[in-house]
Amino acid sequence: MVRNAKKAPETKEKSAAARKLLAWYDRHARVLPWRARKGERADPYAVWLSEIMLQQTTVVTVGPYFTGFLKRWPTVDALAKAPQEEVMKAWAGLGYYARARNMHACARAVSSEHGGKFPDTAEGLIGLPGIGPYTAAAIAAIAFGRRATVVDGNVERVVARLFDIETPLPKAKSEIREYAETLTPEKRAGDFAQAMMDLGATLCTPRNPACNRCPINGLCDARARGTEALRPGRAPKKAKPTRTGACFWLTRNGHVWLRRRPEKGLLGGMMEAPGTDWKTPLCHKTVKKLSQKDLEALYPRAPVAAEWRLIPGLVTHSFTHFDLELVVLAAATRKKLVPGGDGRWVPLDELHGEALPTVMRKVAMHAMPEAGALFAKR
Ligand code: SF4
Repeated sequence: MVRNAKKAPETKEKSAAARKLLAWYDRHARVLPWRARKGERADPYAVWLSEIMLQQTTVVTVGPYFTGFLKRWPTVDALAKAPQEEVMKAWAGLGYYARARNMHACARAVSSEHGGKFPDTAEGLIGLPGIGPYTAAAIAAIAFGRRATVVDGNVERVVARLFDIETPLPKAKSEIREYAETLTPEKRAGDFAQAMMDLGATLCTPRNPACNRCPINGLCDARARGTEALRPGRAPKKAKPTRTGACFWLTRNGHVWLRRRPEKGLLGGMMEAPGTDWKTPLCHKTVKKLSQKDLEALYPRAPVAAEWRLIPGLVTHSFTHFDLELVVLAAATRKKLVPGGDGRWVPLDELHGEALPTVMRKVAMHAMPEAGALFAKR
């Protein structure tokens, strides 16, 4: 609901905000690999790919992945034909792996059901695998010039400040969206969306916004009232639980034993060092306090009987809903574990080409510090 106490800006003011922002965007738009240059038409495939990758991930991180994907699979048809395992390997390190599986399913749907062309409206796009209301609006506006309002985290911040919205996030989301819709112009809606994103990323930043350089500072309620540092308000975050477990780093003759996680669920289809589930109440004791008995209790969960040694320290990783602490036990074996089922021997110098999620890269670097240089290669 739009707050009663404050009305959406008058038409004249709204059009002034859009006009000023578009003029600023024409001069200061960020150069991004997926963005069409002035006078060029946006490539819907590139827009879609970037929007999927940018969900929960920063522009800096996405850059090399986006370029790599486009080079390897230059069209949606090419991506549709790629084996899923190759797509997951190329995605490794970007996180939120369900996105990669949905992205691949979406490429296949666009290729087989839409003749390799993305639908050109938000209504047509929504419902394709991995495309929700935000992504549909972004593609419709940026790739096809449709009037659609795109509200990401940057835009939320700009709108909350522009209208000095007191309601804290996440409760304020629908209110912010209503205000944002009043700003979207009929023409150049895609450029406007990108201008709002750029403003949030470069000037209207979470801390110390550069209001003196902002093209809409004369229209900004938070600036006028000195409340910009307080907007958007946020409800206190709930503390995340900590889960714990153990991983087994088994090597043999320059190889490490890895297995594939089940297709469904967290990190589905990605590779991992075998281990316990992540409920084993172990790590919170801290490594120093782990007794021999604690360690021995883990051995039956190891992929093979061996002389396991505890690597000092913990691997920690933060997922959206919980924090994880892992202890890592390492052993070298001469036994011939036969690849099969979900496990196989992977050459240590080819680890960077595997579909290892970030937490497992941390495990690899914990067990084998030189793995860091390998992962930096990609
Ligand atoms: S004036 Fe400041 S707070 Fe307001 S939109 Fe611009 S940068 Fe953000």
